[in-house]
Amino acid sequence: MDEIISTLCELEASSYHLVTDKTVGRLHAPTVFDRLVGEAPTRLWVVEDGESAKSVSTVEQLAHDMVRAGIDRGGVIVAVGGGVIGNLAGLTAALLFRGVRLVHVPTTLIAAADSVASLKQAVNLPLGKNLLGCYHKPTAVLIDLGFLQTLPAAQIRSGMYEIIKNALTVATENIPLLESGLNPNAIYSDSEFAVIVKAGLLAKQKVMLVDKCERRQALAFEYGHTVGHAIELAANGRVPHGEAVGLGMIVAAKVASRLGRLKEADLELHYRLLRLNGLTFRLPAGVSVATVMALLRTDNKRGYVSARPEQVAMILLEGLGAPAGPVDRPLILVEASLIQSCIKECLVDIEDVSYDENRL
Ligand code: NAD
Repeated sequence: MDEIISTLCELEASSYHLVTDKTVGRLHAPTVFDRLVGEAPTRLWVVEDGESAKSVSTVEQLAHDMVRAGIDRGGVIVAVGGGVIGNLAGLTAALLFRGVRLVHVPTTLIAAADSVASLKQAVNLPLGKNLLGCYHKPTAVLIDLGFLQTLPAAQIRSGMYEIIKNALTVATENIPLLESGLNPNAIYSDSEFAVIVKAGLLAKQKVMLVDKCERRQALAFEYGHTVGHAIELAANGRVPHGEAVGLGMIVAAKVASRLGRLKEADLELHYRLLRLNGLTFRLPAGVSVATVMALLRTDNKRGYVSARPEQVAMILLEGLGAPAGPVDRPLILVEASLIQSCIKECLVDIEDVSYDENRL
């Protein structure tokens, strides 16, 4: 915390604007705020928790409040929270005066080990996730691993799915660490978190160095997100982002296996790692295959490659650490009917099939 405060002060901001949500606003943001307010003009802005707050209206409200409070081009916006707060603060920082400085103080595993290393800032539209956004580089990322200890197990697991995804797609050197270290209870010490966060960030850095806008090689980070985003949207906030990506990864692996691209042993490794992280291979209650299929059409990778209406562009693996397709465009067009059949095979219990067939 001393280093976080001193590094923030070194930025010599005209004012600091901490953005947080209600939960982190109770647990951790006051610690940062109380220490910083004694050093420089500082405001704390608290938004609602969760994905539904990740909207353009929240960004507008934040910008409005900050301008009214006197922020100028020398101000610094500090995101104290998870990936949602990182994106909200990030997009506000990118837009205010066409760009003010942004600092991330991540408090979830997803944010600490993954999203802070991305320049992508976006909010959702009712029609789909992350549809409205831009790129904005943080000036600093300051992590206090102690913050992660208050995370509910579901949130830790959620972050771990992104780390599993990065290991399967671009950082196979982390697979042994995950096989020996993952536990379904999601209880990890500070030193275990340190190893995990470092592994996550190095995996991300490896690809970001050659593709900082994540439009070419780094599209591999979208592994599991095509079906995952659709499940997350369909579940309407009831399923953590990472868990939805975990479900999406098993469908992507099954699709690749059915296409003869992925070996059985590699598909089995997907199951093993995801199970070690506590995943239940089932669509969330109340989410039908038909809804997921309909939402696939809003996937934000559409347009990278031209596809027929019944095709969906997906990241698939040809092996561990080997995304299929051209290196700088690792997208494969898959027939929607194959995806639908793989969702049913991997994520729908036998007794649910008749229920889903009726709804289709
Ligand atoms: P989140 O920010 O909603 O946090 C999840 C929940 O955990 C919230 O209720 C929050 O209040 C709570 N929380 C945060 N820190 C806590 C702590 N220390 N103790 C207890 N509770 C705490 O979501 P997330 O899972 O961190 O991130 C998911 C979001 O990140 C998605 O919107 C996703 O699109 C985005 N994301 C962006 C990128 C990118 O490239 N920019 C990458 C990955 C994910």
